[in-house]
Amino acid sequence: MLIYIKGLEDERFVRPLQLIANLFFEETDICLENNGRSELEIDIQLVDEGEEVAASAVLLAAGEEYRASYRKAVTVLEGKEHFKQVKNVVSHVFLHVLQDYTKITQKWGILTGMRPTKLLHKQHQAGVPAEEARRKLQEDYMITEEKVHLMERILERQLAMVPDLYEVKEEVSIYIGIPFCPTKCAYCTFPAYAIQGKQGRVSSFLSGLHYEMEKIGQWLREKDVKITTVYYGGGTPTAITAEEMDELYELMYKVFPDVDSIREITVEAGRPDTITPEKLAVLRKWNIDRISINPQSYTQETLKAIGRHHTVEETISKYRMAKEHGMNNINMDLIIGLPGEGTEEFAHSLEETEKLMPESLTVHTLSFKRASEMTLNKEKYKVADRTEVEQMMNMAEQWTKEHEYVPYYLYRQKNILGNLENVGYSKPGRESIYNIMIMEEVQTIIGIGCGAASKFIDRKTGKIEHFANPKDPKTYNERFVEYTEKKINKLNQLFS
Ligand code: SF4
Repeated sequence: MLIYIKGLEDERFVRPLQLIANLFFEETDICLENNGRSELEIDIQLVDEGEEVAASAVLLAAGEEYRASYRKAVTVLEGKEHFKQVKNVVSHVFLHVLQDYTKITQKWGILTGMRPTKLLHKQHQAGVPAEEARRKLQEDYMITEEKVHLMERILERQLAMVPDLYEVKEEVSIYIGIPFCPTKCAYCTFPAYAIQGKQGRVSSFLSGLHYEMEKIGQWLREKDVKITTVYYGGGTPTAITAEEMDELYELMYKVFPDVDSIREITVEAGRPDTITPEKLAVLRKWNIDRISINPQSYTQETLKAIGRHHTVEETISKYRMAKEHGMNNINMDLIIGLPGEGTEEFAHSLEETEKLMPESLTVHTLSFKRASEMTLNKEKYKVADRTEVEQMMNMAEQWTKEHEYVPYYLYRQKNILGNLENVGYSKPGRESIYNIMIMEEVQTIIGIGCGAASKFIDRKTGKIEHFANPKDPKTYNERFVEYTEKKINKLNQLFS
C-alpha cells in the first residue's frame, strides 16, 4: 500500500507515519511527492507556531471524506524534542483519519514503540497525579481507556514487587545466553542451534562462557556492584547436560558476588523435552527459584506444525515432575495465533493450563519476525484474522482475572498479529523481577554468552546503549575475550 501525503515536506515524518500506517495495512510505503502510483492520498496541513502546533488531515476515498484536526501546546521550542512533539500532533490526525477510513480502532493509539508502560513510569516518577497522567495518555497518544487501565495495573504491581524500582540502577542484572536447543522452532529468531552431535562445540562454548562469567564477576566484586537478578535464557539452557549445568551454577556461586542475596535466579527450561529428573535435581541443589516450561499450545498438530518436537503430554508430565522436585515458581508461555489455531484451540490451551495452574503465565501474540522460517514461508502458515486474535486476547484476560492472576509486564513487537501485545501474568507476589528490569529499562543488564544482548544504562541521563555478543557459537568461541573486554570498558565508564 503506497500512501501519498500531500502537504508535508520534512522527510523525518516518513518513518513515523509509515509505522502507524503499518498498523492498518501490510507493508506500507509513504511518499511526500505525488508519483501517480499511490493507492491512498492524505492531505495534511501543519501550522507550527512555536508554542502551539495545529494539524489537520483530509482523506478522500470512494466518494467519502474523512477529516481530523488537532491542536496542542508544545513545551520545547526547538530541536529534536520539539520535532517529537510536532510529530505527535501530525500522527494524531493521521491515525484519526485512518481509523475512520478503515473502521479499525488502534487500542494503543499513535504508540508504535515496544514499551508503553515506560511512558506511565515517567509520569509517575515525575510526580504527575494519576488522573492527569491518564488524561495525557488518552488525549496525547489516543490510547484507549482499556489499555491505559492495563498500564496502571502493571505499574502498580511492578512497584509492589520492586519498591526501589527507580533506584535499582545502582545494581545490575545478568543475562546468560545458552544458544542450543533440541531442534529449531519455525517462528524462532533467537540464537538457537540444534544440539545433536555438536558436543564439541558445546564444550568450547561453555569454556568461553566460564571465562566471561569469571571476568564479569571479578569486575562486580572490585566495584562492589550488586546483582539484582540473573536470567539464563537462549536457546534452551536446559539443553546442555545435567553435569554441565551443575558446573555452570557452581561457577556462578564461586565468581559472582553474594549470590545468596540475588533477588531472583531464573532458568528457561523452555522445551519440556530437555527436562530430566537429574537436571531438576541440579536446579534445586543450586536454589534456582524460577523456571519456565513453555507449552506454547496444547494442540499436538500445532506443535508439529511449528517444529517443536515434543508432545502435549510431555509438557504436562514435565511440569508435574518439576513440581515434585520442589520447583515452586514456574512460568508457562502460551502463544495466541499460532498457525491453524483459533478460539477453540486457545480455549483448550486455557483449560489445560487450569489443570496445572503455574505461578505465572505469559501470553504472547504471534509475531512474524523477519528472519524466521514462518515469515520466509508465510503462505504455508495460515493464521487467525485480527478479530479472532483479539477475541483470544480477551479470553486470556478474562481467564487470568477469574483465576486471580495479575498482569505485571507487557511489550509490543513489530508485525504482531492484530497490533496487540505480549502480557506477563502472575499470581500476586510471584512476578518475575528480571522481566520487570528488562521491560522498564531501569538498570544495566550485562549479557554474557552467545547472542546475549547487553543494555548499558547511564545512571544519570538514562541513555541506553546496546551491545550484542556474537550470535553463532563459532564466532563466539573465537572472540569472547575481545567482547568481554569491550563490556568491561563500557562498565568502567558507567560506574566510575
Ligand atoms: S525452544 Fe525457544 S529458543 Fe529454542 S528454537 Fe524453539 S523458540 Fe527458539
